[in-house]
Amino acid sequence: MDQCKNCGNHYSKLFSIEMFGQTHHFDCFECAITALAPRCGHCNTLIIGHGVEAGDLIYCCAHCSRVEGHMGLQDHSTSTFAPPDIR
Ligand SMILES: [Zn+2]
Ligand SMILES: [Zn+2]
Repeated sequence: MDQCKNCGNHYSKLFSIEMFGQTHHFDCFECAITALAPRCGHCNTLIIGHGVEAGDLIYCCAHCSRVEGHMGLQDHSTSTFAPPDIR
């Protein structure tokens, strides 16, 4: 396998990513992201972090999950910051 799955480039320095039991080959990270990153279920933004998940669905942020009716996810905790005890 010497061809990028996304753009078709024949390249000597391809790398592979295993995802959900399948191996995919790419010539650059941009192609890997384009081919494999999920998209937000509300705004369609590519999710290159881990996003937030509601059941089998994934969103870029808690706002987008709420717009789609999933009320359990938050971007912020309601607790106040407590620095770790360093004694
Ligand atoms: Zn490519
Ligand atoms: Zn979104």
